[in-house]
Amino acid sequence: MSAYEFVDHSYDVVVVGAGGAGLRATFGLANSGLSVACVTKVFPTRSHTVAAQGGISAALGNMGQDDWRWHMYDTIKGSDWLGDQDAIEFMCKEAPAAILELEHYGLPFSRTEEGKIYQRPFGGMTTQYGTGPAAQRTCAAADRTGHAMLHTLYQQALKHEAQFFIEYFAVDLIMENGECRGVVAIDMATGKVHRFRAHMVVLATGGYGRAYFSCTSAHTCTGDGGGMVLRAGLPMQDMEFVQFHPTGIYGSGCLITEGARGEGGILRNSKGEAFMERYAPSAKNLASRDVVSRAMTIEIREGRGVGAEQDHIFLHLEHLGAKVLQEKLPGISETAKIFAGVDVTKQPIPVLPTVHYNMGGIPTNIHGEVVTLKNGNPDSVVPGLMAVGEAACVSVHGANRLGSNSLLDLVIFGREAARHCAEVVKPGKRHKPLAADAGDLAVSRIDRYRNAKGELKTSKIRLDMQRVMQNHAAVFRTGESLQEGVDKLDKVIDSFGSVSVSDRGLVWNTDLVETLELDNLLGQAAATISSALNRKESRGAHAREDFPNRDDANWMKHTLSWVDGRGKVTLDTRPVHMYTLTDDVEVVPPKARVY
Ligand SMILES: Cc1cc2nc3c(=O)[nH]c(=O)nc-3n(C[C@H](O)[C@H](O)[C@H](O)COP(=O)(O)OP(=O)(O)OC[C@H]3O[C@@H](n4cnc5c(N)ncnc54)[C@H](O)[C@@H]3O)c2cc1C
Repeated sequence: MSAYEFVDHSYDVVVVGAGGAGLRATFGLANSGLSVACVTKVFPTRSHTVAAQGGISAALGNMGQDDWRWHMYDTIKGSDWLGDQDAIEFMCKEAPAAILELEHYGLPFSRTEEGKIYQRPFGGMTTQYGTGPAAQRTCAAADRTGHAMLHTLYQQALKHEAQFFIEYFAVDLIMENGECRGVVAIDMATGKVHRFRAHMVVLATGGYGRAYFSCTSAHTCTGDGGGMVLRAGLPMQDMEFVQFHPTGIYGSGCLITEGARGEGGILRNSKGEAFMERYAPSAKNLASRDVVSRAMTIEIREGRGVGAEQDHIFLHLEHLGAKVLQEKLPGISETAKIFAGVDVTKQPIPVLPTVHYNMGGIPTNIHGEVVTLKNGNPDSVVPGLMAVGEAACVSVHGANRLGSNSLLDLVIFGREAARHCAEVVKPGKRHKPLAADAGDLAVSRIDRYRNAKGELKTSKIRLDMQRVMQNHAAVFRTGESLQEGVDKLDKVIDSFGSVSVSDRGLVWNTDLVETLELDNLLGQAAATISSALNRKESRGAHAREDFPNRDDANWMKHTLSWVDGRGKVTLDTRPVHMYTLTDDVEVVPPKARVY
């Protein structure tokens, strides 16, 4: 037994994470009469969702004709046919009702003249199954949609009396015979270790953008849920698909929303050319993100980048006029001023493709239940464990996510996870006793790191990992560069054995917390780069220069990756769901993806 005394809790359900996905699940659970604890390492409204700018998609048709089937078609095409079509159908069909629900909960959406929810165009969102004009489908609260959403959802969760454990860092799952029984967390303010017992644990811990050097993600995006799942011997899915957003501010990586191009912003090279016309003649600046990021990278490589080093591109918004900028893009006007020193009414913003979103994550079915490959069954459910939001891979984004589909994913699958729990967990159901050593593995990990007296600082190892990922798992990849990256990352993972952590005890030991986060990141970095090396085709965000074409015959399948404690990766596959949930729609067969 460990030297620690646990503080024990029992709930029907425990949610780890209080971003959009975690909060939507939490208040849905509380609303259905289940006892629910929401454990979060940052204050709920500081979760990364707060940074979402542009909006949330739904075929409301407030600003022109629209249909959820067109939304489904666009999402499948955007996913480059790696998305599961049953899950995409579910998400797009449920979207309009979920948005109206958010409106009724108090989300302050921007308005049209007639008082309807304002909707802007976003990349890859079209009408008439890709043959009509761009759809205005992205519901926006100015350019602060995530902020508005988080506050609305947190208020609802408080109203429904969910229990919050704020600034608690979840360390590991409690697994018994393949079943999840709860989670162990450190209360960072007191240093006490808590053991949460639950019939269901819902992981809503967000993405792992911080595996890279330059990303739009908050410092908290360290893929902790994914790390816990890997240590539980379960796989991650489609980790090779990392989205680069075309418009991170050059130098700082801060995001300029796609909504800026939705409002009419134009990318130009050093010759002043609106070069997207050459790469995506119809959609131009609103082609999907992988297409725009690759086009920008090619422009820079071919010597048409801007700036002294010719290593970035300009995003022009001046022509939109001060009134539109003030009304529709106030947040990004401020961000451009602070992080690029630019007055957007007069000057272009220097931008560069920047790591932004993880399409891969913990594999789940449409109810949020975590699935794994067991005895040849790729849909085998892991009892007691669910995942939602960016931490999960349901998979509605496939090889490339369309902008504004993530916020939608959070609310649709957060809501569905709560609904499903209410169906399978009876409020107040008695808990089986935990095994005598439950939680000890987590505690021994904490002990190992807090006593680590090696010669390398956590920050040094993290930087080494981030540099490898930035250089070797980038917008364009080759087998040679990926193999080099795998070898270098192996060395970084080995060096983690020499980490040094300041032993300040457990009270606010941020050095220890960052080390636990780094452990989570390293496993996911290994899964990402090995999966990328393995996939010998180009699809969505995964662009192999040595395999430039999509290869449906051999690669229309999800990658599963297991990572052991030494960083060794094992890979397998799962079929893509090429079927629909109902007869309301037909399967969209694969075809060439042009915009
Ligand atoms: C700058 C930016 C702008 C974006 N704009 C848009 C947009 O306009 N539209 C759109 O659809 N998408 C957008 N996205 C993507 C979208 O914001 C994210 O995918 C989404 O917010 C992720 O939400 P989440 O609930 O899954 O996770 P997060 O919001 O990241 O929340 C994770 C939660 O997990 C908790 N947590 C993590 N680890 C632990 C742990 N070990 N212990 C306890 N708690 C833990 C955190 O405290 C936090 O509460 C944007 C992304 C970025 C980076």
